[in-house]
Amino acid sequence: GLCQQASFVISAAKVDQCPPDEGLEIAFAGRSNAGKSSAMNTLTHANLARTSKTPGRTQLLNFFRLDDQRRLVDLPGYGFAKVPIPLKQHWQRHLEAYLGSRESLAGVFLMMDVRHPLTDFDRMMLDWAQASEMPLHILLTKADKLAFGAAKNALLKVQRELHQQWGDTASVQLFSAPKRQGIEEAQAVMATWLGL
Ligand code: GDP
Repeated sequence: GLCQQASFVISAAKVDQCPPDEGLEIAFAGRSNAGKSSAMNTLTHANLARTSKTPGRTQLLNFFRLDDQRRLVDLPGYGFAKVPIPLKQHWQRHLEAYLGSRESLAGVFLMMDVRHPLTDFDRMMLDWAQASEMPLHILLTKADKLAFGAAKNALLKVQRELHQQWGDTASVQLFSAPKRQGIEEAQAVMATWLGL
């Protein structure tokens, strides 16, 4: 299946340390604790993102090879309260440099806790995606934490606001790692973006 051969490639502390800007890649973004690592692992049937949490690697861009021409990129989690401000600024600088310059970037997956969607940073990402005409797909994670009806309502509410504020910049779906909900829908988006 998709991404089964995913393996760790390289940690880049700076944009000039990224692997060659060729082929296609999908970047994964989200507020810390939104469920980004769990989503990446679930979608790739691997344990990719644990690597990104190894101390010393958390401030970096982490690239995972799918095949010679395709990669996933774990972007640093944002909004982690305990991180000192200079480190936050470091992250933001490199995140912006990466997002603004990466030719092979085919789209961005943005993880949001279904109970706390559309934070200020999420809105910044959406503004940036719209301005740069970058496809963005949102996973409303931890859908299992809400009853079925409440999760569905949260999805409809986010869909409505997305459409009003950002037109067709972004798509959105429910996702649960432990319940394995939304995997096929998310993998279909990945496959399209990666030309599979
Ligand atoms: P990250 O910081 O965005 O990479 O978030 P993690 O993937 O490490 O998840 C943060 C916490 O939320 C962990 O305790 C996970 O077990 C939990 N979590 C992640 N995804 C889900 C989910 O879909 N459902 C539930 N119930 N918990 C989740």
